Amino acid sequence: MIRLAIQKSGRLSEDSLNLIRECGISFLSSSYKLKTEATNFPLEILFLRDDDIPGYVQDGVADLGIVGQNVLVEAGFPDLEVEKLGFSKCRLSLAILRSEAYNSVADLQGKNIATSYPQILGRYLAGEGVQANLHTISGSVEIAPSIGLADAICDIVSSGSTLLGNGLREVETVFRSEAVLIANQQLTAEKQELLEQLQFRMQSVRRARR
Ligand code: ATP
Ligand code: ZN
Repeated sequence: MIRLAIQKSGRLSEDSLNLIRECGISFLSSSYKLKTEATNFPLEILFLRDDDIPGYVQDGVADLGIVGQNVLVEAGFPDLEVEKLGFSKCRLSLAILRSEAYNSVADLQGKNIATSYPQILGRYLAGEGVQANLHTISGSVEIAPSIGLADAICDIVSSGSTLLGNGLREVETVFRSEAVLIANQQLTAEKQELLEQLQFRMQSVRRARR
């Protein structure tokens, strides 16, 4: 039996469940249960907050997980990635108030930047030779500039309408992300074999979708 952690409810949940079903794996799921067993594959599915998934897979509480690369890299475990899954594509971008002038990332030198991704942003800014004050906040990052909490933000951007609604404009892409399958690095030979079967099925699903 191999244990896979997926997001309980959020932007990854539906596509994660659909992928497992398209792999030919059947299971009963009800919205209040925290785990379920597949009926035709030795798989147990755990439903968790996405932020907790990298740590649980690193520690072996779960053998496998499906999570965004943004959360995986921020958690500090990029090496757990074993397969790109092609959904939940998004980007982390820097944005500033629309009224502010902007020429290059050097303009952020010494500024206050609010983000939920201090590790990814810190590395990006260091690579650009920019020193800024990062303020880590866990949600509603987009309102920080308009209430005077920060000069800029770094957050997930998809449509741009949230930025617009908060008087912001995107100025730099910091990181591109998609959902990935992750795996514990000390799987038993038996679980490694199950992982390979799952990867094979996931690759077939992706080929068939194209
Ligand atoms: P949880 O309650 O599990 O912590 P959350 O609020 O942190 O959930 P979601 O908003 O459900 O997270 O997003 C989960 C993941 O989906 C993100 O980490 C990112 O990888 C991806 N994602 C976020 N926003 C988008 C988007 N607009 N388009 C595509 N993918 C996205
Ligand atoms: Zn989360």
